[in-house]
Amino acid sequence: MTAKADTRLRRIPDKGSKDEQLARDIIDEARICHVGFTVDEQPYVVPMAIARDGDRILLHGSVVSRLITNLAGGLPCCVTVTHLDGLVYARSAFNSSMNYRSLMVFGSAEIIADPEEKERGLDILVEHLLPGRLSELRKSTRKELNATTLLSLPLATFSIKVGEGPPDDTKSDVDTPIWAGVVPLKMQQGEPQAAPDMVSGTPLPAYLRKSD
Ligand SMILES: Cc1cc2nc3c(=O)[nH]c(=O)nc-3n(C[C@H](O)[C@H](O)[C@H](O)COP(=O)(O)OP(=O)(O)OC[C@H]3O[C@@H](n4cnc5c(N)ncnc54)[C@H](O)[C@@H]3O)c2cc1C
Repeated sequence: MTAKADTRLRRIPDKGSKDEQLARDIIDEARICHVGFTVDEQPYVVPMAIARDGDRILLHGSVVSRLITNLAGGLPCCVTVTHLDGLVYARSAFNSSMNYRSLMVFGSAEIIADPEEKERGLDILVEHLLPGRLSELRKSTRKELNATTLLSLPLATFSIKVGEGPPDDTKSDVDTPIWAGVVPLKMQQGEPQAAPDMVSGTPLPAYLRKSD
């Protein structure tokens, strides 16, 4: 199926890229992806956590989840990651757009069964999703590890599309006296909210303090 995946960009192909480092960077900046697959001719697109181990994507979930069972069975899938970087205010609705980086990876996932490799992969996921946290956490129990399936998907067949830069208005619209430009958008960390049952006096760890 991987060979069948069509990764040619037809509309605005100059926004496309095959840059492997850019693909890695897009994943590394993401915490979630959307995983698409078809079961009994019904497409599903499911949000999931994502991390990267070299040139493979790591996904995980409960051993009993239908999603994981399907993916672990080698069902062809498509993992999409999107970063919305800005809103592009052009002088017409038609030319208004968004700046973004998006990645689609095609393939079939495999279970990472080897216990050591699985533990290492899950650690990569935890450290990617909650940077700095791993060193403070107790080790997962055997029961917890057994309740979790870890999957890998090669970062091999993929396509990237990037939208960037100012509005691209038609010449006749440029003299219209309305504001035009880009409003950047960014995901931001909010103020940490302590759990109500936290041992009192526990300080906020350094990795959760805002650097700015
Ligand atoms: C940000 C985010 C990150 C997540 N990360 C993970 C992850 O890393 N691993 C993981 O296993 N799960 C993750 N989930 C949950 C995941 O999206 C599924 O809900 C979950 O895996 C349940 O799968 P299932 O096979 O048990 O559901 P199914 O039994 O297959 O689901 C049955 C039906 O429930 C509905 N449904 C299921 N999930 C969703 C959903 N998320 N939103 C709306 N409707 C839904 C659909 O109609 C679906 O057909 C994440 C969810 C979010 C929002």
